[in-house]
Amino acid sequence: MSPEDASRKPLPAPDADTTAFWRGLKDGRLLLQHCGRCGHVQYYQQAMCRACGSEQLEHRPASGRGKVHSFSVVHRAPGPAFKTDVPYAVLLVELAEGPRMISTFAGGDPADVTFDMDVELSFDEVSEEITLPRFRKV
Ligand SMILES: [Zn+2]
Repeated sequence: MSPEDASRKPLPAPDADTTAFWRGLKDGRLLLQHCGRCGHVQYYQQAMCRACGSEQLEHRPASGRGKVHSFSVVHRAPGPAFKTDVPYAVLLVELAEGPRMISTFAGGDPADVTFDMDVELSFDEVSEEITLPRFRKV
């Protein structure tokens, strides 16, 4: 591991539980885990169902549709690497399948973001390995 460089954005590091998830994003699919026992759908990846503890989990691609459950607009960059991004909107998106995920608003003025706004997934390839799931207005 190289030392943290403040001018570069921190990127997620896939591990055993999340390799399939990151691979899916690279292929343009947001994978959710569906429980074979209770039907619970979860984001993010874990070895067990968070509702019933079953390990019978299956990856299925999400529709990519969701609604803005909550959001906030960031005006002050959390670090030098984010300076050119501000202002940007951090979203809590409720996916059509149920799970909620934190992401950011892509391709638009953050002032346009409203509660319950319909959004769809967009893929932001930030490195060879990592593609980040973001959302844009439908
Ligand atoms: Zn379950």
